[in-house]
Amino acid sequence: MQIVLLGPPGAGKGTQAKSLKSYFNLIHISTGDLLRKAVSENTKLGVEAKEFIERGDLVPDKLVIELINERLSKPDVSRGFILDGFPRNDSQADILDKMLQKKNIILNYVVYLEASEEIIIQRLSGRRVCRSCHENFHVKNMPTKVEGICDICGGELYRRSDDQEEAIRNRLKIYTEKTESLVDYYSSQEKLLKIDANFDAPVVFEKLKSVLL
Ligand code: ADP
Ligand code: ZN
Repeated sequence: MQIVLLGPPGAGKGTQAKSLKSYFNLIHISTGDLLRKAVSENTKLGVEAKEFIERGDLVPDKLVIELINERLSKPDVSRGFILDGFPRNDSQADILDKMLQKKNIILNYVVYLEASEEIIIQRLSGRRVCRSCHENFHVKNMPTKVEGICDICGGELYRRSDDQEEAIRNRLKIYTEKTESLVDYYSSQEKLLKIDANFDAPVVFEKLKSVLL
């Protein structure tokens, strides 16, 4: 099974990807995670991408495509995958189609997670991430036992620089301008599955399973 997760920031793509990954034994490819890793490791690509990520802008296609191409060339891809955060504009979608064609891989579904702006802002502004294991928490929806400390590994929690209000607003604007049109793109390929993601994560996952099984 090869799936793309589509939807605004804060729709829960990363959270649902993790559940899908373990339930269907797929690999999870998140461009956001790959980019943040490159930034923290100070690679050449990471240094170039950093300012775009912090502002909430899209990183130039060339860099993201380089990351995706590299990842999709690894042998474990044959297990099936969830693409989270890619494609994010028309030309990325076009390039993905061509890349998959070349590798003889079929894209089965594009799951569109829909969430209201109110829910999105509430989720993103309360999100906290562990510095060590990268697990996501939420100050209200999913608080840790000890404030500021990861339940899983004891690491320190931080607020992503692009989860500050100004960057959130910019990400939403860019989503509307550049990414939302992919809903039509995949709908005309008859691949789109629309899910109402305005619910708690386990409820959304049940809905997801019921459309995929
Ligand atoms: P979210 O979906 O919540 O905005 P992500 O972790 O997927 O968060 O992405 C964080 C940032 O990484 C984006 O705001 C953008 O700067 C960059 N990014 C991720 N995927 C792409 C992509 N496909 N094209 C360009 N930039 C990307
Ligand atoms: Zn942790």
